[in-house]
Amino acid sequence: MLENLFSSRVKLDGKSRLVGLFPETHYIDNISFGGGAPEERLFPVAELKEAYQAAVQKEGAHAFQYHDIRGPEYLRQFLLKRAKDLVGIKNVDDSQLMLTAGGQQGIELVAKMLLNKGDAMAVEAPTYVGALAAFDNYEPTYYNVSMQDDGADLEQFEQLLQVHPEIKLFYTVPDFHNPTGITMSIAKRKHLVELANKYDFIILEDTPYRDLRYLGQSLPSVKSFDTEGRVIFLSSFSKILTPAFRIGWLVASPVVVQALTKLKLAEDLEVPYLPSATIEYYLKNNDLDEHIQSLRDLYQGKMEEMTTALNRYLPGVKVSYPEGGFFLWLELDEGIDTTKLLWENSVPKEHLVYVPSENFYANRDCKNGMRINFTGPSYQQIDDGVKRLSRMLLETSKK
Ligand code: PMP
Repeated sequence: MLENLFSSRVKLDGKSRLVGLFPETHYIDNISFGGGAPEERLFPVAELKEAYQAAVQKEGAHAFQYHDIRGPEYLRQFLLKRAKDLVGIKNVDDSQLMLTAGGQQGIELVAKMLLNKGDAMAVEAPTYVGALAAFDNYEPTYYNVSMQDDGADLEQFEQLLQVHPEIKLFYTVPDFHNPTGITMSIAKRKHLVELANKYDFIILEDTPYRDLRYLGQSLPSVKSFDTEGRVIFLSSFSKILTPAFRIGWLVASPVVVQALTKLKLAEDLEVPYLPSATIEYYLKNNDLDEHIQSLRDLYQGKMEEMTTALNRYLPGVKVSYPEGGFFLWLELDEGIDTTKLLWENSVPKEHLVYVPSENFYANRDCKNGMRINFTGPSYQQIDDGVKRLSRMLLETSKK
């Protein structure tokens, strides 16, 4: 048995939480409310192709060489300016910025930097399943903090910290939370930093959806309230440009950036040059914020279509109404198991895919919710998909 040679991090339960989550590719008439996919029609294909060609033309054969782990200087300066202007992080300089292979690598590196086997960390319950998959590999002891309408329940968190002062990391998605769509209030952002100072832990603020606000005013980041360098602000080009390049970035204390860079060097040596240089040339010749505005316009329309369809076909169901992002969260009656509801003889029932709630809980103990994505499906699919969902629920209630 080869598996006997595997380390305990692989053996945990034999598979990643991410395996089998998105079965949508297998059936042609599937409608997917599953993954967190951007709308393909809005990828700026011509502009990105031009930017790629410009990068190759400028550098010639050198474009295909190894490069500096830090990534292109222009891109770094662009992101530092954005951190100051749009994220509210003052006094930020180059020693605090790091490019990563998507936000996902940022999460994984932070886990690797902080967590020895059994170390205590806290997560929102529910939370992003990909983050749990990354943390799982370092075998932490998880503590859950419940979600409220204005973000994580910080009273509950403080009680937890009093009993478990050994908690060293709190992972949060404060803007249009994945999976619930909830946004953390300003008061809680400030208070969270106070708790981190008082109880000595690090906050990982994960914000891939931050720019995709459809309603209301943008809020200052948790990082903007940071007084002791305890907050790691993480973001990504995946949702605002393309996920295919795998480029993310983080802003953190220089000592944290140094530690993470050491770990990244061992993982992949450098930021992939051609994707990052393509983004550089794209930014030089195009207005990213104009592009983001076109995403906002389309996604806001789709979110409204989804909420209208839910009101029409599933009037009694408890639904979150986010101000941005990619997801709505549905809470069904206690006793309904949305994982069981999804499958029939290994095929998604009604060929409709969503992500069952248990996947978003560290200990998989909440069965009656589901995350539905509204950015990937077309308007027609949104309407048809919600009809399918209501049929599924009707059939279950008859049983
Ligand atoms: N964090 C959150 C909350 C996400 O939803 C995602 C992607 N779904 C990621 C991080 C990772 O994104 P990427 O690696 O593509 O930047």
